[in-house]
Amino acid sequence: MKQIEVPNMLLKHYKRHPDKLINCKVKHIQKIDNYVRRNKVNTVGIDLGKYRFLAASNSDLTFTFVDEHNTFFQLFRKYESRLEDKQVDNNKAYSKLKTGLKNHINQVINELIEQVNETNSFQTVFVLGDHGSSHLSFPSLIFDLIYFAIKQRKHEYDEILIVDESFTSIECPKCQKRTSQNRTKSNRFRCTHCGFYYPNDDVIAAANIAKKGKLLVF
Ligand SMILES: [Zn+2]
Repeated sequence: MKQIEVPNMLLKHYKRHPDKLINCKVKHIQKIDNYVRRNKVNTVGIDLGKYRFLAASNSDLTFTFVDEHNTFFQLFRKYESRLEDKQVDNNKAYSKLKTGLKNHINQVINELIEQVNETNSFQTVFVLGDHGSSHLSFPSLIFDLIYFAIKQRKHEYDEILIVDESFTSIECPKCQKRTSQNRTKSNRFRCTHCGFYYPNDDVIAAANIAKKGKLLVF
């Protein structure tokens, strides 16, 4: 209750006599309103990569989403075999990859937003991790496609944030221990320090990205 910054006695009074809220000070109404809004914001981190699945999660792992399709792998495999094929022009191979990625990302973001909308939140903040690498790289292309897919589909009052994604894939969400050994070869997360376990390490990265976003929002 301290977070609301309205005297406890007053809050109890309003709870007992909600009709008295009409006489309540504007600054108190604003504080109560802010508190309610703040606690209904769903902050969803998104982890993405060149070959990995797209994963999303809120900071406490109560909302998670994983792209279960194999499409990402298949698109890159096809692209590589087109590059090896001397009959196929490299630019054409790249434009086919781009179209394939765009279609797949639009489909995945549709699925994600559909599931986000099922949660009972007031507003959603989508948090994307900035990898900070060259703008010509595949992660950048995927990042841009995801950013615009969300921008086109989100509600007007939802937000998109970009955070530095350093260490988000190797940090334990429970004890904050950072080591690459927390990630197992089979795509699982097991903290070497406190033993925290989760069956998908990309979801943990997404949860850590959400946590970074949450710090920016509140
Ligand atoms: Zn730990």
